[in-house]
Amino acid sequence: MKNCIFCKIINGEIPSYKIYDDEFTFAILDINPTSRGHVLVLPKKHFDMTENTDNEILEKMIVVSKNLGKKIRKILKSDGFNININNDKYAGQEIMHTHFHIVQRFDGDGLKLWKANENEKSKVGETYNEIIKNLK
Ligand code: 5GP
Ligand code: ZN
Repeated sequence: MKNCIFCKIINGEIPSYKIYDDEFTFAILDINPTSRGHVLVLPKKHFDMTENTDNEILEKMIVVSKNLGKKIRKILKSDGFNININNDKYAGQEIMHTHFHIVQRFDGDGLKLWKANENEKSKVGETYNEIIKNLK
């Protein structure tokens, strides 16, 4: 897609630290890493976000993410890794071309991804009912 920075990277119009590609996916180092070895896994075909991406492509992406995460964990001797997806602007997505983040984790790195919401704690049952009656 025109004016998409990740499409330009995939097409070679913008340089990147490419670490993997195959028929469907493309993986690069994030230029602004959260930790050492932060990788972005992208579909070669343009989709704006995960919820609008073909399931078959997402299946390829998660397998590539798992394999790369595991290999890089060994190479960098990390203590674990997160596979993170930001779906749409208010979930933190800045680049509107679907991508998965693979973030290597190191003992004591202090990264805290999720903070419990005390207000929601008492409403879990209520929320459950709302979801389950509409979930098809
Ligand atoms: P988002 O917030 O959309 O989930 O993540 C986008 C990521 O893309 C950010 O972590 C950001 O550092 C990274 N990024 C933005 N522009 C570029 C770029 O030109 N090259 C690479 N390799 N990463 C980029
Ligand atoms: Zn794109």
